[in-house]
Amino acid sequence: MPEANHSPLRAAQKQLAAVVERLGLGPDVYELLKEPARVIEVSIPVRMDSGRLKLFKGYRAQHCDVLGPTKGGIRFHPRVDLDEVKALAIWMTFKCALLGLPYGGAKGGVICDPRELSRRELEELSRGYIRALAGFIGPDRDIPAPDVNTSDQVMGWMLDEFSRITGHPNPAVITGKPLVLGGSRGRGEATGRGVVVTIREAARVLGMDMERMTAAIQGFGKVGSWVARYLHRSGTRVVAVVDAYGGVYHPDGLDVEALFAYGRQNGTVRGFPGGQPIDNESLFRLPVDVLVPAALENVITEENAPHIQARIVAEGANGPTTPEADEILYRRGVFVLPDILANAGGVTVSYFEWVQNLMQYYWSEEQVVRQLERLMVGAFKAVYRCHVEESVPMRLAAYMVAIDRLAEALIARGWVP
Ligand code: GLU
Repeated sequence: MPEANHSPLRAAQKQLAAVVERLGLGPDVYELLKEPARVIEVSIPVRMDSGRLKLFKGYRAQHCDVLGPTKGGIRFHPRVDLDEVKALAIWMTFKCALLGLPYGGAKGGVICDPRELSRRELEELSRGYIRALAGFIGPDRDIPAPDVNTSDQVMGWMLDEFSRITGHPNPAVITGKPLVLGGSRGRGEATGRGVVVTIREAARVLGMDMERMTAAIQGFGKVGSWVARYLHRSGTRVVAVVDAYGGVYHPDGLDVEALFAYGRQNGTVRGFPGGQPIDNESLFRLPVDVLVPAALENVITEENAPHIQARIVAEGANGPTTPEADEILYRRGVFVLPDILANAGGVTVSYFEWVQNLMQYYWSEEQVVRQLERLMVGAFKAVYRCHVEESVPMRLAAYMVAIDRLAEALIARGWVP
């Protein structure tokens, strides 16, 4: 969903170039990682309820499989484009490398507005996407998952379609499935839980007390709603939430459980009686300790970055901060928990789901949560150490840890001398 002059692909490539240079890795590593290894563009015919046949355009970018099969979500959104899908695939490679998962990155997208589709049309589209891509995905090739506007139900249809094509049940081809189809306990909450683990670790190193903090959250979907709940449970007051339709604000803190129920019933937090209305731009300017963008890309820009008062920005979304805004935040001393660290809980539990599917042995929620904690805290510590030792921003530190690991694998494979 790039704005005119915010190409996420160019941003990803710029970040990569800076890190390759900083690590003294030489041009081969940049050349090998600057573009996805494979990009597939498909047309998906769907018979609409009206009887008309409509073609939807979809993509899958598979970035780099040097550490393992590729992995990443599928988004359904009217403003999906190829440039964005490629950038998101690159970020997935870095995210998986940072967490030490045996995966490379991928991402998929379909240009559509799921709000305008009936349930049957949505199912047809989900199945059609998998039919078009069946030859390119698989448990040891490329493993999709949910992303913006795709649910466990969508994963269920996709799994079913793939299993019909291959002629046998194949749960490990996709993650984020319903529990009954081999989904993992704790997957739905995982991204939000991971965001809050990184906020807790940041608060610890910054000498802040979770029980005295306030937070504002942009987005109240698969990520934002769980961030709100876990922050609330940690004693942090969630004072504002904004979603695609509107927002609510209460300086003493919102009743998050009531907001969750309201959001579920109404499809938005707008109109929630326990607070006053607030819009996006005002949310970014609030005097809070933590700001969590948990929706789409490019929402923190050079226009609003100078007004952000939060001490911590935790990126629940992928790519929410433009490179220009990033520099402003750094100069102003804002502690940024970069996306590839902060929101990595989702793909981490996706990895656990895939492991459980391959082993056909299912873990308790407690096991999932413990292992998630372990990997997230380990990644935070590695990034924080690099941030301190090398005096670089947290984002650059996260990239350095990830790309160092990727470069080691490229050398071990003999792709780079
Ligand atoms: N879409 C999520 C992400 O951006 C999860 C991907 C996955 O579970 O594979 O990290």
